[in-house]
Amino acid sequence: MRSKKKRAVSLFLASVLALSAAGCSQTAQGAQTSENGRMEAGTQASGNGEAKASDKGKSAKKEMTPWINSNVAGTVTESTKADLKDDFNLAVNYDYLKDKKIGEGRKRETCTSELQDITNEQLLKMMTDDTIKGHDAELIQELYAMWLDWDKRNSVGMSELMPHIEVIQKLENLADLTEYLSSEEGISYGAGLSGAILMPDLEDAQWYCLYIEGTPLSLGDSDEYEKRTSLGERNLKAHRETAGLLLKMAGYGEKEIEKLLEQEYAFEKEIASVIMSTAEQQAPDAMQRILNRVTVEQLEEMSPNYPVVKITEALGLIGSDRIILQEPEWLLKMNELYKEENFEKLKSYLLVHTLTRYGKNLDEETFRKLKKIENEVSGITGSEPDEKLALDTVSKALTISVSKVYSQKYVGPEVREDVTNIIKECIGAYRTMLSSEDWLSEETRKKAVEKLDNITVNAAYPDKWQDTKGLQFTPRKDGGSYFTACIELNKCNRELDKKKVNTKIDREAWANDMALTTANAYYNPLDNSINIIAGILGGAFYRPDMTYEEKLAGIGSVIGHEISHAFDPNGAQFDKDGNFSKWWTDEDYAAFEARAQKLIGYYNTIVPFEDGENYPGENVQGEAIADIAGVKCMLILAKERADFDYDLFFRAYTISWRSVCTREYGEYIVYQDVHPMNYLRVNVTLKQQPEFYETYGIEEGDGMYMAKEDRISVW
Ligand SMILES: [Zn+2]
Repeated sequence: MRSKKKRAVSLFLASVLALSAAGCSQTAQGAQTSENGRMEAGTQASGNGEAKASDKGKSAKKEMTPWINSNVAGTVTESTKADLKDDFNLAVNYDYLKDKKIGEGRKRETCTSELQDITNEQLLKMMTDDTIKGHDAELIQELYAMWLDWDKRNSVGMSELMPHIEVIQKLENLADLTEYLSSEEGISYGAGLSGAILMPDLEDAQWYCLYIEGTPLSLGDSDEYEKRTSLGERNLKAHRETAGLLLKMAGYGEKEIEKLLEQEYAFEKEIASVIMSTAEQQAPDAMQRILNRVTVEQLEEMSPNYPVVKITEALGLIGSDRIILQEPEWLLKMNELYKEENFEKLKSYLLVHTLTRYGKNLDEETFRKLKKIENEVSGITGSEPDEKLALDTVSKALTISVSKVYSQKYVGPEVREDVTNIIKECIGAYRTMLSSEDWLSEETRKKAVEKLDNITVNAAYPDKWQDTKGLQFTPRKDGGSYFTACIELNKCNRELDKKKVNTKIDREAWANDMALTTANAYYNPLDNSINIIAGILGGAFYRPDMTYEEKLAGIGSVIGHEISHAFDPNGAQFDKDGNFSKWWTDEDYAAFEARAQKLIGYYNTIVPFEDGENYPGENVQGEAIADIAGVKCMLILAKERADFDYDLFFRAYTISWRSVCTREYGEYIVYQDVHPMNYLRVNVTLKQQPEFYETYGIEEGDGMYMAKEDRISVW
């Protein structure tokens, strides 16, 4: 419901570098998913990635190295041997990995999902608790009830969407299309051919800046149009099934559907050739590549055909003094393709994407069919209860309202104070760590410490909230439906965006994109803040009565991890104020990159499945660096206590990463996610720490051994 466009920009900016895949922003795909949601990996267009299609057929089994991928359900059996010195994760989590069943409708189980279940129970009560009063509670409770009201949704069916599909169907030529794209109808209901969004200015992050984004792709990753993986195959199949079903509902026959999908694909293939791939978006030079400042005049000059300026004007955003065109090549190509002879292709794209955008907002039968198609992509069987699905939708659509009502009801100031103190302690340890990095020059080290000391600590919930008064929709008693509510909320968000043009960001109202009820945490490079939000403060991560070792292993490591994102290959490019600017000496930065390369090189030797494919180390470098540095930071704190129980610490850390997932989702994590699989987040991280070797007497020949000179800690 909030503009899906938000999702694409977050890729580039990577403004939220979250703790876990479940909560991460890095879902490259889902351009056509009906609702927003930066958080949920594995949606329709994401999913998984098996071996490259070209490798199909030569399925000779190979060894997984250096450990078996114990996170994939069914890998660990009674006959699997588990030894602490060879595979620490397997030995500590053995029973869990062997016995844990993945719940209905879910792709994986983790400590964060267990914690999320507890929070969700509270949230579900909140959704129907009529003792909670106020505008925010009213909004979330009504939308929740609307989602679940199948009778009403069934009676509405396609009837509210169809008039808007008919507008697209009636477009006859390019002039019609241009008018449509920049009309109120087009921006309210249409899927659009490009995006425009306000985010912090990369180089002056206190201010909002307008970012022009390229065309959302059905297959997410532009590489999929050149070199199809099984991930792409599966996503394409799901996309075609979804679109086919909806086109049929819109009255098209089989032949017409085939033609429409062909035309849509033909356009996507052409435009994909100039859109950055997922790997390119995650590369350290991505920021530099997207940083293309333009004026309105330049946009007009670059794109006389494709009406990028008119569309942005219709959105009310063109008055922005700051405009960044993320991919100039995309705009040039878009302009080249935007001509009469391609009209049918462009129209097909618009038609298909508009239908798929709203598909899951329709009646029950359609919803269930589409959800099943989506689930198959991730190997999910069964379905979660409707209440949970409704809750997820509401949390994404009304993030701030949900966060606000939840924090006021369930999170006390004591927790916030305790966690703030732990964060300060961690920052202290990090200072010690940075000060001892002898590969950095004095100059860079000083700047790094300055950046560390300037980190804003956001714990649990903010004192100030973004205004939600502007959010409203017609409730059912006044004739509203779930479909119209979604449209009205979209419009409200557009109005709120308009007000942000040429204004400063209110950093105190820091709860924005991620619902505070999410079992997750993140570092925001654009304001140099770590955000340890309410949803992560429970379960295996934090309980007030935990031992010190357990607190460090749980929430402490999470905090250390997030601080490390300020100094990973992405975060390191932003200064203490959140601006994209170089504060390193060239020599130090080169040394930093060389260290990151060594880490990538090691990951590339890992084989996570028996297909023999190597782990794409480039994708996970930032997260792997953060894991290792986070634990190192905790071990600095450990040194201050004479009686520190290292065994308890290492075990508690390992337990907090226990996880089983479907094979398909495992493949998705390996090939698309920026977080390594959990067995690696444990084993690779621990084998970098000298204290681990001492605690368990690890020696050459053990699976958990790594020669000192081969170790890959960047920090
Ligand atoms: Zn992270």
